[in-house]
Amino acid sequence: MADSAHIWANDILARCDELASLSESPSELTRTFLTLEHARANELVAGWMVAAGMTPQLDGAGNIVGRYDGTVPDAPALMLASHLDTVRNAGKYDGMLGVVTAIACIDRLNRDGLRLTCPIEVIGFVNEEGTRFGATLTGSRAVAGTFNIADLEARDASGVTMRDAYTAFGLDPDKVASAAHTDKDIAAYMELHIEQGPVLERENLAVGIVTAISGATRMRVELLGLAGHAGTVPMGQRRDALAGAAEIIAYVEKRCSGTPGLVGTVGWIEASPGAVNVVPGGCAFSLDIRAETDRVRTAAVENITAEIAQICARRGLALTFVPLHDAPSSLCSENLMLELENACAHEGFPTMRLPSGAGHDAMALAAICEIGMLFIRCTKGISHNPAEAVLAEDVEAGARVLYHFIREFNYAR
Ligand SMILES: [Zn+2]
Repeated sequence: MADSAHIWANDILARCDELASLSESPSELTRTFLTLEHARANELVAGWMVAAGMTPQLDGAGNIVGRYDGTVPDAPALMLASHLDTVRNAGKYDGMLGVVTAIACIDRLNRDGLRLTCPIEVIGFVNEEGTRFGATLTGSRAVAGTFNIADLEARDASGVTMRDAYTAFGLDPDKVASAAHTDKDIAAYMELHIEQGPVLERENLAVGIVTAISGATRMRVELLGLAGHAGTVPMGQRRDALAGAAEIIAYVEKRCSGTPGLVGTVGWIEASPGAVNVVPGGCAFSLDIRAETDRVRTAAVENITAEIAQICARRGLALTFVPLHDAPSSLCSENLMLELENACAHEGFPTMRLPSGAGHDAMALAAICEIGMLFIRCTKGISHNPAEAVLAEDVEAGARVLYHFIREFNYAR
């Protein structure tokens, strides 16, 4: 449509390149939490916010927050955000694309002299990835009021605590929680992000609308059989823990196939004693099960753990489950999904609904407001990798859809 025919993609991609130059390592993109490069990324983004007519501020958690006032005083804000930290040897778009595109949309509003009734807050969150200290979602949890103070004692690889890193960064670690908003401050949360998976590419779509951020159950499974001589113990008399694990892994793959939104992965395994001529007496492996709905995930976990118990009983293996992580799914708001669908239709981009198997800052915000996410196709679904790539035309599509969504947003609907 004429009102949004402005070409956004080149500016947005140039800014993603500029952010990618702020790296702890000269040969790759690595920008972790509370580093000098993180401070520089905040400064760069703050400058773009000012140029777009926003007032930027560093909050107590280290997030950069830009505010674009609305016309109704004290109305709750539309929050547009993603993260500015990266994994090690990262791509240029995971997180950054959402922040930069949101700023481009506000810039467009500002140049057209437009304001919503409600204010808009654009946030570049810190530490979504957890690369440096392990703890994840620090910035978004602080904003949602669910920051875990115990995370301050987490240490990086050189033994520095998050608490000391905050002090070195120039922030008071005891004031991280001051970043908290309440449900009265926020009308809705919207995050644009690359898909990090191959579904949109397969469906030949530039943009997709997220239905939910999948919940996840993660555990360590330990099997104990009996080690023995690989030449002398007959097949029928073995208690081979690794062979038991193999049967379990095949079951996990079968059980998680064919149910939309359900995925199951054994990504790590270790056998002991680990010798070519010894029947493996011990085996430990990880199990990661995710699904769009908690009902589907819980049913899969129940079936899989029951099957593991049966396989172990039949094979004479002792079994231990060590729970590692259990997070419910975060549902996206039906209203926001419909509004995004309207925006896609208005801009002429076909779309689909799909769940997000990866975690996002939106999960944290779900605690205090309705959330929505717009996915942008990424090449071959590759992410957390320097090969991460997007098409300029897809970035253009995402920006136009987000802009239209913002223009139509009504906090009092
Ligand atoms: Zn991300």
